[in-house]
Amino acid sequence: ARLVKGLTKTRNNIVNGFESVFSGFSKIDEEFYEELEEILIIGDIGVRATEEILDSLREKVKENHIKEPMDCKQLLMDSIKEQMDVGEAAYRFENETSVILVVGVNGVGKTTSVGKLAKKLKDQNKKVVLAAADTFRAAAKEQLEEWSHRAGVEMISGQEGADPASVVFDATQAAKARHADVLLCDTAGRLHNKKNLMEELKKINRILEREFPDAYRETLVVLDSTTGQNALAQAREFKEAADLSGIILTKMDGTAKGGIAVAIQSELGIPVKYIGVGEQVEDLEKFDSDAFVDALFD
Ligand code: GDP
Repeated sequence: ARLVKGLTKTRNNIVNGFESVFSGFSKIDEEFYEELEEILIIGDIGVRATEEILDSLREKVKENHIKEPMDCKQLLMDSIKEQMDVGEAAYRFENETSVILVVGVNGVGKTTSVGKLAKKLKDQNKKVVLAAADTFRAAAKEQLEEWSHRAGVEMISGQEGADPASVVFDATQAAKARHADVLLCDTAGRLHNKKNLMEELKKINRILEREFPDAYRETLVVLDSTTGQNALAQAREFKEAADLSGIILTKMDGTAKGGIAVAIQSELGIPVKYIGVGEQVEDLEKFDSDAFVDALFD
């Protein structure tokens, strides 16, 4: 039910469109497919993913000798699910000693997401240490500190402009001393210089490799769903700079274009692990593609 709550706008946008096409057409013709295409594109599913979804739908319609537009609904859902398939999203950091790096540009909801995730893990009785290693943005540290209080977890920080890697190093020492289960690092917030970003992440990863050789490692990129295709472009750039293992897609409560989740998974092959569905600490949901598609059509 929570998944649907955060997706109301997307759901209304996409499902209402589909319903009118399914009920408005008496036969499956080119025009029918064109209408479907328009709805998928408007929902920000992206041109390429849309084409592949419709190709697959056409095949299924043919194979199953479907004549009625209404009978396409399930097949369309199946096609979208297949398009989103990136294997099962693992949440190994819930069960193993882990280090999670979180990257993303300013304003996407990175700090908020790190805070929410810290709280979620803390609620699972994990010992969490937060590293405020996004030392570039002036207010980031104070903001993260507030979240650390809210979540009830310890935060390690440095001076503004400090070397992010040195903050991460300090945090690894604190995490070891406290026998932490999860070290959660709020890191790089800029993209305009990809080479710097890559160097910075490499340096951080070297430290983590050395200090926590046996820990499970994860790098999550935070993307703002309300920015649509722009979020996709950011994801591509981060994928080139970092070894991404998952995505946190924020502000899904504020957009009718949550279809961007389809475009992202289909193009990047990386799972959306969480979606942000509000500004409160509890507004972070695990994401499941099949449940997402079901919710959109329910
Ligand atoms: P950062 O610059 O990437 O660290 O972004 P912040 O964490 O400061 O978030 C920017 C703004 O987006 C803040 O006003 C947050 O409350 C808001 N925000 C973050 N995630 C969500 C979300 O899932 N839903 C909504 N509605 N707002 C969000």
